[in-house]
Amino acid sequence: MGQRKRIVIVGGVAGGASAAAKARRMSEDAEIVLLERGNDISFANCGLPYHVGGIIPDRARLLVQSPQAMRQRFAVDVRTHSEVLRINRPQKTVVVHDKAKDRQYEQPYDVLILSPGAEPVRPPIPGADHKRVFTLRSLADMDAIKAVVDGGVGATPRGRPGQAQGPAPAMAAVVVGGGYIGLEMTEVLTHRGLAVSLVELESQVMGPIDPEMATPLHEHLRQQGVDLCLSSSVTAIQEREGQLEVHVGATPRGRPGQAQGPAPTGRVIPCGLVILAIGVRPEAKLATEAGLTIGQRKGIVVDDHMRTSDPDIYAVGDAVEVQDLVGGFPAVIPLAGPANRQGRIAAINALGGDAVYERTQGTAICKVFDLAVGMTGLSEKALKRAGLVYEKVYVHPASHAGYYPGATQISLKLLFDPQNGKVLGAQCVGAAGVDKRIDVLAVAIRAGMTVYDLENLELAYAPPFGSAKDPVNYAGFVAANTLRKEVRICHVPDMVNPGPNQMLLDVRTAPEVQQGTIPGSVHIPLDELRGRLGELPKDKEVLAFCQVGLRGYLACRILSQNGVACRNLTGGYKTYGQVMGLMSGSPKILREVKEDTGHVGSVPVRASEETPHGVTTNGPVQVVKEIDACGLQCPGPIMQLKQAMDQIQPGQAVRISVSDPAFAGDLDGWCHTTGSRLRDKQLNKGVLTAVVEKGQAAPTSAPAATSTDKTLVVFSDAFDKAMAAFIIANGAAAMGSDVTMFFTFWGLNLLRRAQAVPVRKTFIERMFGWMMPRGAGKTSLSQMNMAGVGTAMIKGIMRKKNVLSLPELIAAAQQSGVRLVACTMTMDLMGIKREELLDGVEEGGVAMYLDRAGSANVNLFIG
Ligand code: FAD
Repeated sequence: MGQRKRIVIVGGVAGGASAAAKARRMSEDAEIVLLERGNDISFANCGLPYHVGGIIPDRARLLVQSPQAMRQRFAVDVRTHSEVLRINRPQKTVVVHDKAKDRQYEQPYDVLILSPGAEPVRPPIPGADHKRVFTLRSLADMDAIKAVVDGGVGATPRGRPGQAQGPAPAMAAVVVGGGYIGLEMTEVLTHRGLAVSLVELESQVMGPIDPEMATPLHEHLRQQGVDLCLSSSVTAIQEREGQLEVHVGATPRGRPGQAQGPAPTGRVIPCGLVILAIGVRPEAKLATEAGLTIGQRKGIVVDDHMRTSDPDIYAVGDAVEVQDLVGGFPAVIPLAGPANRQGRIAAINALGGDAVYERTQGTAICKVFDLAVGMTGLSEKALKRAGLVYEKVYVHPASHAGYYPGATQISLKLLFDPQNGKVLGAQCVGAAGVDKRIDVLAVAIRAGMTVYDLENLELAYAPPFGSAKDPVNYAGFVAANTLRKEVRICHVPDMVNPGPNQMLLDVRTAPEVQQGTIPGSVHIPLDELRGRLGELPKDKEVLAFCQVGLRGYLACRILSQNGVACRNLTGGYKTYGQVMGLMSGSPKILREVKEDTGHVGSVPVRASEETPHGVTTNGPVQVVKEIDACGLQCPGPIMQLKQAMDQIQPGQAVRISVSDPAFAGDLDGWCHTTGSRLRDKQLNKGVLTAVVEKGQAAPTSAPAATSTDKTLVVFSDAFDKAMAAFIIANGAAAMGSDVTMFFTFWGLNLLRRAQAVPVRKTFIERMFGWMMPRGAGKTSLSQMNMAGVGTAMIKGIMRKKNVLSLPELIAAAQQSGVRLVACTMTMDLMGIKREELLDGVEEGGVAMYLDRAGSANVNLFIG
């Protein structure tokens, strides 16, 4: 029997401990020495933030394997407090500093496996070495942070200077860096009741994902009360009277249109502790000094057997440079999964095996309060950097069947090769189901699958878990449809800067458009599109969009089969909002609430908070209706709320649960407008549950009036007068009035359909029809029309200023319940037939009008 093979491993955590255990499983003969400079081996670094946050209360659970257990079970010679200072390659020894005995010795090896990890970057900021400025890598770091948080050292009164201070002293913390460690620390410190400021140099958190996929995270962080300072850098940290002051300056890196944090220039944030989480760099000092090859990313260069430039030395984990699976370029990807697998592979090869490491694809996931963000493969920015050709699609499906309670919306971005459809990368954000979608897509990338394969994947489905068309299938359909040229897609930059021969078409419903649209777009709801094709110019390419991309796709199928050149905005208005940083939300309210109540995680709104017309009692509220609007998108939830509120009495309340993130912003405005009171608002796992109490009717300025009804006689079809009429009507409807608009003579033209309808007419009637404008889109200014130039100018200005067009205002009025009445006498005179009028228009005579006017408190004549 030959001499026992001596394997020495440097670093005893993820990669090192894996290598040691695998080596023993491979060989009972080998002599295995594990050298770790710290006190512990094989601990769960990934769990460190959660012990600080109290989510993993038992510290011992982080110790996956103790030195004693490792010795006993695997017969590994574990030496803690043993730092390797040097590698003597010619002698094949390492110089070890036994810190416990403070002595040095040489340890011989046959094969050396390096797994020293990566060290947190400490920027050269004045004050960064203060004892309450921490990085988080080891159990010792964790203990030190937890001691400060537990002890309330450096506690500052809750709130910032200039803000009302709450009664109980609590600590504030500044987390520097919005990567996954920074985000996890932000969450757990908030969970512990600290007021957390997150300072990030870039204009987005979670650097590896694309900016638009970080937008929901920004919104969510702010909703959780985090003081998010993007495009900001810490310039100095000072101690003043026992408290730290973090000086924050702006960086000029914000993207145009991207929502930024509060203007940070010259800002000073008082706090009790600072967490530096601005990234890690490979611990390559030992390898460098030993003359091993170091790569361009500053990691130790290894081959696909994890062998360094010295055949007797292997290296694994955060310290090495790997090949990116998709791009094939060198990359440093510090993740636990790769480190563990590489440790196994190095051990197998160290014992004469032939195991190959098949590159790293950067599959990762991070919890950010109630959201999860996951990624695999290359991001769009990485593909661009690498000069690779790609196409992308966005989908925003529900995490499981929308009709089963608790579904939430996820946003999924899929990147693929436009030539062969090969999946190149994916990113996913949402409250539920992110992990399984990213894992499926990670497997797809690893297996070299295409978007056509994604269409055919058979994935587990039952309503509580998914949909018959899983989001992964769905992303595959959308991408494959694009490649098959079933529909051409466009992206947000196309919508922001359309060419002169392009036209933006919003095919959503009027209430959706009211919540916001892309400036310059024309609105034709999908269900009216077939009948209104004549409104589309034949010489322009139509860039269609809807809320998430599906109706835009259907619109494009209609348009292209009718000879209209068109493309669909992938991901729809939702993706537009993410790219432009237009997400809604009311962080201010949530933050105030948190500060007032001390609640974290769930954030009830103050019961005493009043809406303008709200009831002033603080007493209990009677919830008489429950609505589960999860899975519905804007404006579905607000419409359901309105319907339910219409059925209850003042003082009673509706509890509504909504997964659409846009609802938070809509809700406050809706309550304000309708005089309802927001009695409770809780965000949990991406579902916002609100209790809305019906208020008393708004007091009128004229107490004698018994009615708030309004009537308008619309006599003119002039564009400006019609605009005024519909703006007033919509406003009155929004204030809760019943509105009737009576269209007579030229005003009737506003109600005509844009396209000709085959009806029987006399010659005179037909002549009249030709001479008069056909519908609201064809009207002209009453003054300064200048052969249509003036009208075109004012329409352009309105588009720029995001004013709804006249057809949109008419649709919105109908949607709000405004009664549009066509004067039957005028119809008869002008030969206008019922079929020529918009859907929903009523016919009525003067008696009907007078009856309505008699019970109205305002009656206007627009002529
Ligand atoms: P490490 O696990 O860091 O181990 C290196 C060890 O080597 C250290 O204990 C160090 O003391 C020792 N050492 C270094 N130099 C010497 C020397 N000269 N002599 C002796 N000993 C030495 N990854 C994920 O995939 N998911 C997560 O959720 C996740 N969360 C994380 C959370 C935190 C707070 C941290 C810090 C990391 C997290 N990671 C996560 C990253 C993951 O922990 C690392 O990728 C993985 O631990 C790397 O393994 P490694 O063996 O290369 O290095």
